[in-house]
Amino acid sequence: MPQSILLIEDEESLARFVELELTHEGYAVTKRFDGREGLNCALENNFDLILLDIMLPSLNGLEVLRRLRKEKNTPVILLTARDAVMDKVTGLDTGADDYVTKPFAIEELLARLRAALRKQTAPAEDTLAVGPVRLDKLRHTVSVNGNEVTLTSREFQLLQYMMENAGIVLSRETLLSTVWGYDYMGETNVVDVYIRYLRQKIDEAHDVKTLHTIRGVGYVMKTEENHV
Ligand code: CA
Repeated sequence: MPQSILLIEDEESLARFVELELTHEGYAVTKRFDGREGLNCALENNFDLILLDIMLPSLNGLEVLRRLRKEKNTPVILLTARDAVMDKVTGLDTGADDYVTKPFAIEELLARLRAALRKQTAPAEDTLAVGPVRLDKLRHTVSVNGNEVTLTSREFQLLQYMMENAGIVLSRETLLSTVWGYDYMGETNVVDVYIRYLRQKIDEAHDVKTLHTIRGVGYVMKTEENHV
């Protein structure tokens, strides 16, 4: 799927030019010509990046950014007028990821855009990794060797807790109270059952070994086969 860009720019000829170039580069572009409409569009959709002009009718770009940041972390590149130093400073303080000064060469804009998108997709602390297993807390996705695994929400919670405590042996009681809650009244072997589900989906389906049983103690997530 192409990466989606929201362009909020009131100079229509400039907006059309940028749209043409971005479309040519393979991005899906949505245009808005005024601040308020741009903000609504940014809040209602999940764009990969927003190009935001500062001087806009109805709501200026900095105000759009301020309101957007209360709800979303979509990367924003500001399009600022030349020498508008205050705008740049305020913009970066308000949570812009970068800015490009008008008039700009399209190559510069494209380079900044690629950099901001790369930064966004780079693994951050929102991602946990144990060997071939990766868990993205924000996107709520899990993959093994790059292949996505579908988990139920309980399986996900259990896996996340085990990955956050990788290398540490966790007792059934600890897992039960942390993942299911202290007031859980069901079967106590529920932990074993869910470990079995995870093992099937993570280890057995991808021919890896990350979920280990420590007899008489509990479970540990780690990559090496050696003794604990
Ligand atoms: Ca403008």
